[in-house]
Amino acid sequence: MKKHKPSFIENIAEKLGIIDNLHAEEAFEIPRLNEPGELTNYPPPEQWDDWTEYEAKSGHKREKKNYQIVPTTCFNCESGCGLLSYVDKETMKVRKFEGNPYHPGSRGRNCAKGPATINQINDVDRILYPQKRVGERGAGEWERVSWDDVLDDIAGRIRKALVEERKNEVVYHVGRPGHEGFMDRVLQSWGVDGHNSHTNICSAGARFGYAIWHGADRPSPDHANAQFILLISAHLESGHYFNPHAQRIMEGLMNGAKMCVMDPRLSNTASMADYWMPTYPGSEAAVLLAIAKILLDEGTYNREFLYNWVNWRESLAEMTRNADTPVRTTVSSVSSESNQSVADKSVHTPIEITFDNFIDELKKLYAEYTPEFAEAESGATAEMIREVAKKVGEAGTRFATHNWRSAGAGNLGGWAVSRCLHFLNVLTGSVGTVGGTMPSAWNKFKPKGFSNPPAQKFWNELHFPNEYPLAHYEMSFLLPHFLKEGRGTIDTYFTRVFNPVWTYPDGFMWIDALADESKIGMHIALTPTWNETSYFADYVLPMGHASERHDLISYETHSGKWIGFRQPVLREAARKMGKEVEYTYESNPGEVWEEDEFWIELSWRIDPDGSLGVREHFNSPYRKGEKITIDEYYRYIFENVKGLPEKAAEEDLTPLDYMRKYGAFEVESSTYNIHLTPLTDEELEGTEVDSATYLVTREGKNVGVEIDGVVRQGFHTPSGKQEFFSQTLKDWKWEEYKYPTYIKSHIHRENLDASKNEIVLVPTFRLPTLIHSRSGNAKWLAEIAHRNPLWVSVEDGERWGIKTNDLVRINTDIGYFVNKAWVTEGMKPGVVACSHHLGRWRRQQDATANRWALNQVTIEKDDKGSYKMRVVDGIRPSKTDDPDTSRIFWSDGGVHQNITFPVHPDPISGMHCWHQKVRIEKAHADDKYGDVFVDTNKSLEVYKEWLEMTRPAPGPNGLRRPLWMNRPLRPIEETFYLK
Ligand code: SF4
Repeated sequence: MKKHKPSFIENIAEKLGIIDNLHAEEAFEIPRLNEPGELTNYPPPEQWDDWTEYEAKSGHKREKKNYQIVPTTCFNCESGCGLLSYVDKETMKVRKFEGNPYHPGSRGRNCAKGPATINQINDVDRILYPQKRVGERGAGEWERVSWDDVLDDIAGRIRKALVEERKNEVVYHVGRPGHEGFMDRVLQSWGVDGHNSHTNICSAGARFGYAIWHGADRPSPDHANAQFILLISAHLESGHYFNPHAQRIMEGLMNGAKMCVMDPRLSNTASMADYWMPTYPGSEAAVLLAIAKILLDEGTYNREFLYNWVNWRESLAEMTRNADTPVRTTVSSVSSESNQSVADKSVHTPIEITFDNFIDELKKLYAEYTPEFAEAESGATAEMIREVAKKVGEAGTRFATHNWRSAGAGNLGGWAVSRCLHFLNVLTGSVGTVGGTMPSAWNKFKPKGFSNPPAQKFWNELHFPNEYPLAHYEMSFLLPHFLKEGRGTIDTYFTRVFNPVWTYPDGFMWIDALADESKIGMHIALTPTWNETSYFADYVLPMGHASERHDLISYETHSGKWIGFRQPVLREAARKMGKEVEYTYESNPGEVWEEDEFWIELSWRIDPDGSLGVREHFNSPYRKGEKITIDEYYRYIFENVKGLPEKAAEEDLTPLDYMRKYGAFEVESSTYNIHLTPLTDEELEGTEVDSATYLVTREGKNVGVEIDGVVRQGFHTPSGKQEFFSQTLKDWKWEEYKYPTYIKSHIHRENLDASKNEIVLVPTFRLPTLIHSRSGNAKWLAEIAHRNPLWVSVEDGERWGIKTNDLVRINTDIGYFVNKAWVTEGMKPGVVACSHHLGRWRRQQDATANRWALNQVTIEKDDKGSYKMRVVDGIRPSKTDDPDTSRIFWSDGGVHQNITFPVHPDPISGMHCWHQKVRIEKAHADDKYGDVFVDTNKSLEVYKEWLEMTRPAPGPNGLRRPLWMNRPLRPIEETFYLK
């Protein structure tokens, strides 16, 4: 029992009769709802089926509410954190979302975007019924149609394309993926090479830098156990795997780790760092190589790791035969010729292949990367670079690093940044160690499906064109340019969690492509809410939010491996309360479907008699010849997750019921040093060892590497080791980049004209509470952040005579946008920045939606291909069923910047290089806040300029892509060869 002492205000209110008598003895006897026990942050799972809480809104009346607590998974970023949904048993509505303590990645914690899922499911403007375009595409008129008609129409169209062997004309283009393998099954069962993704406007750059070292394309740092953490991003507030990484970085720091952050912006992360290096954008690799040089010169590298796990023999052989590195006669002659950069091959013979010679050659290779050189390039002081290098060397194997989008996504050659960052992990031997940085593949679980459709026999050159043989993912942002050039057409185009008109560069080119029915025959937008891309669809089909559908998630959040289950919580709550639901849409609002059931149903209708071989992949593994149910689909997967059946059996549960109950399962609790795993006798059967490289193969395929007489798993590369020298880059005509090196970005100072006020714009940073175009329907998040001013340093502001809130025109190579300035000490002079999350829009004819975040605009196109967009109305209060819509106090929805950027495809990784050379000027007299102008003729010119930089396929043996490099939805091997 707790006795409450009324406050002064309460006393007055009580006397005026505004509130009840708070002095009455019984008024403050608040009965406990639980027995006293240990403090806990979460309801215990044994009470999740019937959890009682006081109803906060009932005040002193102390009404109680009974909840069914059901776990699911957040979808507001890529981290896949666990959520607990509180379903009111009386109304069968979700009241709130909190963290799921049983989720191994997020461990009960969320960022602001997780609980805001409640805003999204209660969004008054969400789409509840299938919509079909009426009138011209993009005209904004829609009619409600039935799911049956929609499914039949789309299925008939796809069937026709398959029968007519137009298999590359069916495309699924996804923004935020999920479903671990589900869409691969769908597309491969259809036999189409139709997967397209958002990756090369996001992370393909950084991924390529990692993949070229060791196959796995993402880093998985063990922040919690690190001694030194080096981040090239704002990881604490907005990096990749936000909350799961942020909480582990904090653990590391609390355990005494030190942290260095490279970022031209004083982000929240930089403000927490021990060393903030406000590096000039694109110069990061120069700093990293300066650190590498210090490690090499001072001998603080990990000799054992380098010796065993780097392809140093091949690297040294290459260095000695190469004209651009010295060819030495003996080891002793090396020291006397340390400044020689090019040697005469005719008078020298290759040096002996010894490890010491390799180290000597490395030192020479990086001799020019002095801290002073790095300071001149980056602005980070040589002194700080030396200090950080010392800390890196001291941390040794406990050195955790990360670069995700950031520099890897901003710059021409951005992939070289992650490659040089990983070089430091290689030098310190912190690859895969406790406190080090693991390959992502070690920490990501891949589920096993019940049938495997065959790989497709087609290669879609709209996605993987010959100009970009090494592109890490599909060249998705060039799709409108390719269509415009007549490289192909699309018959049926699905977009899912994908809004390229707004998110991508060159959005007006997307509008041109989407509006042209001769280029895209049918566009189907699968989305819970209207967005700028769905305005140009033929069908807009409502899909469930995070808590309204099934999905599987597994990400490399830490050393360990887990699988998360996203489930429709109302469906599960109903089942728990004795009401079985056959299809998820029965428990969703309106006629909102979930994707999984949509694809199963569509696939059956494409192949009604089974003659196309599609339907068999959507038959039940438990009931011969019958359509698989969604429960059966997940039942099969969970029955085949290592350790899950046994864990479930401990509680007398089936694996599916275990996942329904807890929402996640830890497959491995730690995953260090996987490369050292010895192969079993069975695995070694029929293998042979190469006597020079110690590579172990079976029928030409790598299976491991022999180290000191033991065959170990190694890394997923041609050599089985970390690849300092990349034969791949050499073979594919990029010899100058065969070793880790610094590539000067397209926005290097040499490429800017300061006299014309040219400066680099960093447009990539995230706001911690927003997520691209997915958070516009979350009122709490929009209330926290709703504008994206241009960050300008005090020095630049003074130079240009610009003060905070002044209107400025930011000129790109294809147009301009007009924004307000924010003059701040937190920005590096010579660089400006603008977050990309804001500036959402709709035209007058478009449905009202995302009212917390959308400006109303007019868009005019002239007959020469120029577009002008102007904001005619901002955010404003309005009356709806949600009283909060009348409480909107902000009017500013920010400015759409991405649409003014030309495409900048990196010729190697295929990444769009986001940073922009811009010219800043004061706004013109007739400029208005939010104005956007773009000339699409210039868009095409810039596209062609960058296309000129490519070195197209074929590579060796007539290949269009190296066989060892993976790609999404890998087709059969024959398709890798150009005819
Ligand atoms: S970090 Fe935030 S938005 Fe991302 S999954 Fe976790 S809770 Fe959701």
